[in-house]
Amino acid sequence: DKTNPPGANDSQTLRQFDQQHVWHHLTQHKALEQNPALMIRSGNGMMVTDTDGNQYLDATSGGVWTVNLGYGRQQIVDAIAKQLSDLPYFAGALGNEPAAKFAKVLADLLPNLSRIYYASSGSEANEKAYKIVRQLSQSSSRQGKRKIVYRDRDYHGTTIAALSSSGHNERKAQYGPFLDDFVEIPHCCCYRCPFNKTYPSCNIECAQAFESEILKQGPDTVGSVVLESITAGGGVIVPVPEYLPMIADICKQYGVLLHIDEVVTGMGRTGTWFGFEHFNVFPDMITLAKGLAGGYAAISVLATTETIFEAFKTDTNDPLNYFRDISTFGGCTAGPAAALANIDIIQTENLLNNAKIMGDYFIQQLRGLAEKHPCIGDIRGKGLFIGIELVDDRKTKHPVDEARMTRVFLHCLQHGVMIGRSNRSVAGLNNVLLLSPALICDKAKADDIITAIDAALTATFKQTVFKQTV
Ligand code: PLP
Repeated sequence: DKTNPPGANDSQTLRQFDQQHVWHHLTQHKALEQNPALMIRSGNGMMVTDTDGNQYLDATSGGVWTVNLGYGRQQIVDAIAKQLSDLPYFAGALGNEPAAKFAKVLADLLPNLSRIYYASSGSEANEKAYKIVRQLSQSSSRQGKRKIVYRDRDYHGTTIAALSSSGHNERKAQYGPFLDDFVEIPHCCCYRCPFNKTYPSCNIECAQAFESEILKQGPDTVGSVVLESITAGGGVIVPVPEYLPMIADICKQYGVLLHIDEVVTGMGRTGTWFGFEHFNVFPDMITLAKGLAGGYAAISVLATTETIFEAFKTDTNDPLNYFRDISTFGGCTAGPAAALANIDIIQTENLLNNAKIMGDYFIQQLRGLAEKHPCIGDIRGKGLFIGIELVDDRKTKHPVDEARMTRVFLHCLQHGVMIGRSNRSVAGLNNVLLLSPALICDKAKADDIITAIDAALTATFKQTVFKQTV
């Protein structure tokens, strides 16, 4: 039987297959030769089990903020199975039932974004948004406005245009040259203020830097700004309340489209449906992916205003005046069917509220830990989306090195808790522990996660107990 090679059910042999044939994402394979990757076989709630039968409490939602409702959600599985037996696929130029239904349900959740364009990954959805900006810059109303502004420490994906708009140096190095007309501005992390200022006397210089860049580039050339409402892989950076409204005002003033990347923060992760809702702004476009179907299907979405959509219908004599874009798997039926069940569960189980309450609980408990662990430099987050920045010294803020970050991470894993880490070399930093448990997390599971981090920090750093709040 060619689909069941000898030994395929034995953990050791599976690891051999993995080592011999799988090229893992973001992995230096030399390290895997000594320490083969864990292989996860199954999951239930927030627990996953590997092929050796070891159980782990997953505080990462599948590694990258995706399995937002936990594992073993039969309602989503059933919705997908039914849809696949009714119709597995038809290309998106024609309609299908779950795609239409989900577009309506999602549009009703969004304040002003009523057009839903389907794709299959976060990077791809962002690419669509960039293509829209570029195509609109050929129209008379937005002539020449093709530049896209992005921020240091934000990440928008792995394809060349998405990388061109990302501020993650390690992921970009050696893949250039990048595309013209992508322009970087500083990030908005108060803990490591790019202007060495202190909030609020800084007058939110990071937002003002956006206006300065528009003026430098020439307002007639700037089409959009793309930013994460709360930066994820860059180290969970929550902007101060004034920041996004200031960005939105500057966008209005200079006719720049506001594109908010909600690939991580969308669908309840931060305690609201979308991250931008914390800041009372109305984007022109958002992109969604990871939590959209909770990891049960590959689906992403670009949602735009009706104004943007209408701009592609103005000149029917022009054979090029429509969005000439396609995605083979965009909107294929299992995705929207799963996404509908995902929304239903979030509503029925009141998970937005749970994310908010449990997020506050985490922050409060972590502040307690900081009293005991001087290596905790900063704690940031909203809802179940939390970063813990580790430093050698709170005064110098010198980041903890790679070796000790790895020790903390592995100590948690060896004690049965999976936590995440910020991306390496993000602006030279890779010292943020990431927590993004499923939105179903309760106090008992939160306590288990906190206890594991406490023990890992104690084991990794020689602690002297002292009192200082973070
Ligand atoms: N945008 C953000 C904020 C992300 O964190 C990611 C992935 O981590 C992406 C976009 C890219 O999504 P994908 O990996 O599905 O292409």
